[in-house]
Amino acid sequence: MPAATVEIDQQELARRAHADLAKRARGGIFIYLVAWLILTLPTQVHATEPDFFYLNTAILALIMLSRLAHFFADKFNPSLPVSLRRTWLVTTILTGALHWGLMCFWILTHDGFRHIEFYLIASAAVLGIAGTAALSIAREIRILFPLFMLMPTTIAYLYRHESDDWILASMVVLALVYVIGTARTTGRDYWQSIENELLAAQRAIEMEKLSITDQLTQLNNRSFFDLRFSEEWSRGCRQGSTLSLLMVDLDRFKRLNDTYGHVFGDVCLQRVAEVLRREVKRESDLVARYGGEEFVVLLPDTDAAGARRVGEILRQAIDCIDIEHGDEIIRLTASVGGASCRPERTTAAAALLKRADDALYRAKAAGRNRYEAATEPEIREAQAG
Ligand code: GH3
Ligand code: MG
Ligand code: MG
Repeated sequence: MPAATVEIDQQELARRAHADLAKRARGGIFIYLVAWLILTLPTQVHATEPDFFYLNTAILALIMLSRLAHFFADKFNPSLPVSLRRTWLVTTILTGALHWGLMCFWILTHDGFRHIEFYLIASAAVLGIAGTAALSIAREIRILFPLFMLMPTTIAYLYRHESDDWILASMVVLALVYVIGTARTTGRDYWQSIENELLAAQRAIEMEKLSITDQLTQLNNRSFFDLRFSEEWSRGCRQGSTLSLLMVDLDRFKRLNDTYGHVFGDVCLQRVAEVLRREVKRESDLVARYGGEEFVVLLPDTDAAGARRVGEILRQAIDCIDIEHGDEIIRLTASVGGASCRPERTTAAAALLKRADDALYRAKAAGRNRYEAATEPEIREAQAG
């Protein structure tokens, strides 16, 4: 598959973007409640405006608890769908921003708060700008967060209509436009970079798959077989288990190619590959295209009797393949050679392959469309190296 056809896994993208957003939002879990207490306790708001103080403390505590619950659910409940986690997080963040903005509006439009006005507006500006910058990777947050946080302040200034309020209102609007604009650029850069990162990772996976796959049959190719064979041989040495190998070779395939053409020959190879893939069932077994019209099957933890059983099943399954060519039905047959042994460190793995190949040629010599197993002397000879 050419690299250009690799597509981004949208689910992985959403999962990754949510994880990044949650990480960036962590700092904001406690900050609003802490900022509120720093603003109000030393300035005696709890004594002068107790209802207002306790109501807002309760709302801020609730928002903080919801964000804390989200943090733990995100960390310890992986079964929660990403879309739900994201909606939960974005909703609580925006609720917090809206609450802070409305609080500013209330304070600016009611008497009794003159002494904290400046601190509150400064905190709204700092929290609004810092929050938007940190969370700019979420589109709705980078627009609504600064709007919710700062717009009520602008409206309050215009509503109050005091002498210099229009200057402050203009400053807030300016800050809003600036922060939304820069957040948009930051957000775009972020998305581009994670999309590129995911594409590169997916391309690497595709390339690796490509390097171990036979393109015509989509079975594993010979290099992958060589690798797995050597691994299974080592495992057999360690565990003392029996390893079996089958060589499957289509009968008189050259004649079929010469008669019906190479393209038809390719279709036959694909059908055979499908059948082999279907009939070789164990997770640990491996089917590979060894080359041309020859396939190899690796059967770990399988003795000679098991190998014969699988070999016979494969031979019969190939014998049952009917392929149409015009009005004709073409039948395929294959000869199978099997060899089994207990791998030993002193023996080369290639010896087992050689015995399976010898058995295959005996099957050909004996008339084809049959299974032949490596004989006892052959196996002893293979083990002797
Ligand atoms: P035998 O029964 O003794 O195995 O005879 P055979 O004709 O199958 O064996 P031989 O090794 O003489 O020929 C193998 C043929 O397989 C040669 C070639 O025409 C065909 N072949 C090899 N690779 C491919 C392929 O990728 N596509 C197609 N269509 N044919 C292939
Ligand atoms: Mg052949
Ligand atoms: Mg051959």
